[in-house]
Amino acid sequence: MANTVAIVGRPNVGKSTLFNRLIGERKAIVDDQSGITRDRQYGTFYWTDREFIVIDTGGFVEHTDDIFEKAIKDQVRIAIDEADLIMFVVDINTGITDLDQDMADILRRAKKPVLTIVNKVDNNNKGYENAEFYNLGLGDLFNISAMSGSGTGELLDEVINVLPKENDHIQVNYPKFCIVGRPNAGKSSFVNALLGYDRTIVTDIAGTTRDTIHTKYDKYGKEFLLVDTAGIRKKAKVHENIEFYSVMRAINAIEEADVVFLMIDATRGMEAQDMSIFSLAEKRKKGVVILVNKWDLVEEKQTQTTEDYKKAILEKTAPFSDIPVVFMSAMTKQRIFKAIEIGIEVYDNMLQEIPTSVLNEWLQKVTERQHPPSVKGKNINIKYATQVKSNPPAFGLFTNFPKYIREGYRRYLENEFRKAFKFSGVPVSFFFRQK
Ligand code: GDP
Ligand code: GDP
Repeated sequence: MANTVAIVGRPNVGKSTLFNRLIGERKAIVDDQSGITRDRQYGTFYWTDREFIVIDTGGFVEHTDDIFEKAIKDQVRIAIDEADLIMFVVDINTGITDLDQDMADILRRAKKPVLTIVNKVDNNNKGYENAEFYNLGLGDLFNISAMSGSGTGELLDEVINVLPKENDHIQVNYPKFCIVGRPNAGKSSFVNALLGYDRTIVTDIAGTTRDTIHTKYDKYGKEFLLVDTAGIRKKAKVHENIEFYSVMRAINAIEEADVVFLMIDATRGMEAQDMSIFSLAEKRKKGVVILVNKWDLVEEKQTQTTEDYKKAILEKTAPFSDIPVVFMSAMTKQRIFKAIEIGIEVYDNMLQEIPTSVLNEWLQKVTERQHPPSVKGKNINIKYATQVKSNPPAFGLFTNFPKYIREGYRRYLENEFRKAFKFSGVPVSFFFRQK
């Protein structure tokens, strides 16, 4: 389970420059496919063999109001509660401002590691000017230039140093679900509807750091764990930060879950924030079910309405569009159990193991029907496939020229794969390897 790192600091110190530097260029790849702007507020990065989720808090505050300073300080508090490590960025050119000082006062009391980063140190000489920042009382300073990347290696070494262990997952032998989505989508109503209905057992599970609700449905003889429902119920106190708070909670919940229920409000459709959360779930290789809630408010519910609505959503999630969509109402309780049933199905799909012989029969058929296009006069063959792991599933495909397998062909294989086997809601990885 990846650790989360929050970048805090007042405007213009270079938070988003640092964020972009950390997540690198990979972010651009998926961005334009759906024609919707995917938010750049959070992403993942690797250092050595560790994986991190990083959040740029700068994307969450409007820069205009008088409440702005209060909102920023509030954000620092939320970051302290929800992230594993805080990167506090200051600017060597401006020195310490009042707002820097206020933020430092809050950060000094944090029980989480805080790394103070002096940014815009574009050359070595400038580094010697950093002494005043020791007055912030936050210990060691890290001189970097987010623009050029200098100093970021040492910074990340320190991140590894102070976060020596990744968080442990809760170990249970049934699925862990989380419910995420924008504020007011109806997440708490859904949880309450579920809990109010059946016989439920609410327990504390030893070793969990977050509030969870353990719910058993005798009706299906199935057990599942709802993670972080407390986060859903507890609304942020300060209105300006609801978005930031809910995103932080969603990131943590997604990490902990096997299957993510992404709940959207039927009257609003799939919005930018939903897309961001969806991308994260996909990137983290989690099972996904899309819940279209408040379906009771949609007029003229003919089959066509449902089909069109579903199509519009899946166009946005493309190319990963083999995803179950459930039209429900937390208010009337319509299809709330259907949603759970589908979540369990997706979990079962994630655990599937396809026998090697079956897999290779399929591979032979689809590669014969459409050969990998030859590249630079080279005949490309995919000889053999094997499932490397499940939950999330990954497959190794052995070929004479792994690097000449084009994205288009990979997609052809995945489409055929999804037609042949049942992996609905499951992100599937294909690795091409040298035979
Ligand atoms: P944010 O508001 O904290 O997210 O700050 P930005 O990342 O948007 O950066 C604010 C300004 O500082 C931009 O004009 C950046 O190009 C500039 N900046 C960021 N990092 C550096 C740096 O390392 N050196 C210099 N000289 N400028 C930087
Ligand atoms: P959350 O912020 O995602 O937890 O959303 P809430 O569960 O607090 O719901 C936000 C508002 O939407 C509340 O006023 C709910 O009563 C309402 N709501 C939730 N689900 C439904 C639904 O299925 N139909 C209708 N009509 N309203 C709903």
